[in-house]
Amino acid sequence: MAESIDQLKSAFRGELIQPTDGAYDQARKVYNAMIDKRPKLIARCVDVADVMAAVRYGRENAMLTAIRGGGHNGGGLGICDGGLVIDLSQMKGVRVDPAARTARVAAGCVWGDVDHATHPFGMAVPCGFIATTGVAGLTLGGGIGYLSRRYGLTIDSLLSVDMVLADGRFVTANTKENADLFWAVRGGGGNFGVVTSFEFRMHAVSTVQFGPTFWPLEQAAEVLKVYRKFILTAPEEVDGFFAFLVIPPAPMFPEHLHMKAVCGIVWCGTGTAAETDKATSPMRSVGKPLLDAIGPAPFPVVQSTFDGLYPPGLQWYWRADNFTELSDAAIAKHVEHGSKLPSMWSTMHLYPVNGAAQRVGKNDTAYSFREAVFAEVIVGVDPDPANAGKITEWCKSYYDALHPYSAGGAYVNFMMDEGQERVQASFRDNYARLATIKKKYDPTNFFRVNQNIKPAT
Ligand SMILES: Cc1cc2nc3c(=O)[nH]c(=O)nc-3n(C[C@H](O)[C@H](O)[C@H](O)COP(=O)(O)OP(=O)(O)OC[C@H]3O[C@@H](n4cnc5c(N)ncnc54)[C@H](O)[C@@H]3O)c2cc1C
Repeated sequence: MAESIDQLKSAFRGELIQPTDGAYDQARKVYNAMIDKRPKLIARCVDVADVMAAVRYGRENAMLTAIRGGGHNGGGLGICDGGLVIDLSQMKGVRVDPAARTARVAAGCVWGDVDHATHPFGMAVPCGFIATTGVAGLTLGGGIGYLSRRYGLTIDSLLSVDMVLADGRFVTANTKENADLFWAVRGGGGNFGVVTSFEFRMHAVSTVQFGPTFWPLEQAAEVLKVYRKFILTAPEEVDGFFAFLVIPPAPMFPEHLHMKAVCGIVWCGTGTAAETDKATSPMRSVGKPLLDAIGPAPFPVVQSTFDGLYPPGLQWYWRADNFTELSDAAIAKHVEHGSKLPSMWSTMHLYPVNGAAQRVGKNDTAYSFREAVFAEVIVGVDPDPANAGKITEWCKSYYDALHPYSAGGAYVNFMMDEGQERVQASFRDNYARLATIKKKYDPTNFFRVNQNIKPAT
């Protein structure tokens, strides 16, 4: 007989939130306001025992089950309609071991929690470009950020995970224990179980050289043509992603540039000020920049700079691809579509994923596109639901124009619900091995609210 909600209540220390509860509407909200899903039950876990109880309840009642970390997923994969949400947002805590240079991070943390805990030790874990993103979802998909060229993807600094599997078993996965599972979770997303904590290697990163160089849109083609070569040989201490953006009316920017559509590079240098200046000057001296403002900043400030611009509750529509090169024709398409940003928040970012991220083999982790030089993400963003159509159309037509020049698949964390073909194109020859591991650890595909890997038949 299926387990009753009263049985679950007796085994559960966190909150169980149902549609009739006052907290329900707030609890079912995710970061992207375009997603409006109504689960039957939200199980807000406070510890591993709660996660085990929730997995058992979901399995016994054959419920569609989603796992929620930071709730940031563009496609809303941290929530589902009519099913169970295993919500880890209350499972906080970071334990730094300065001697071993490791950090043990509970699955409900966001990156700001990690930065807060590691910075006093002069350390950081390679993360993303915004502090409010969940550690769990970002890590399990790969993790691209300001430190990727220097220290690799987030998964390249992942040492071990604790997990609850579909059958309720608690396991640890690392290179020595359950090594197949550890290979799979480094890029394979939430397909294999609920990760309850992560152990990361930390790196000596404290104050970095941070800031943008902005150019007028008319110089975008010239900037991109220099950038595609520059980033191939730039020292790995230098990270800088290219963007089309509208300069927001924030006090950190000169007033005459407010609301101006531009292209730019956002720099993060982990060398000294003099080293960063020297390494970036070939790029910053291209054309006539409108603003060139690199200066020292604590890493947690860098990581949270965009948090205010992108609060939860905006409308988001995403498309992404990987690129091994940028041809003149692709650059022409970028300039055409990047010059038509539909709102102040909408943007296109080209993240460099070479350097240390390329030194890991394409079959060494589930994340496959190690030869890609750029991860492109196009995001239509606007606070007003009435503009959802406009931002979606812009995003899709930009993506359609660039996709023919891409390497095929995308970074799974930048994808929405785009179907099985896209998932397979993103994992390429790793997909078959992932499907075999999925069959071993989740043969019924219990965890399927994700970029889904079907169990091998
Ligand atoms: C504003 C913004 C900025 C972003 N910036 C970056 C960036 O700089 N770099 C980058 O790499 N990505 C970035 N992303 C993408 C981000 O990595 C993904 O959206 C990721 O899924 C978010 O993780 P989450 O835990 O917040 O998401 P959630 O929506 O909570 O979960 C997403 C998926 O992750 C899985 N998952 C979550 N927690 C667990 C767990 N504990 N165990 C197993 N599976 C779990 C589940 O399958 C779930 O479906 C950004 C997203 C946004 C919205």
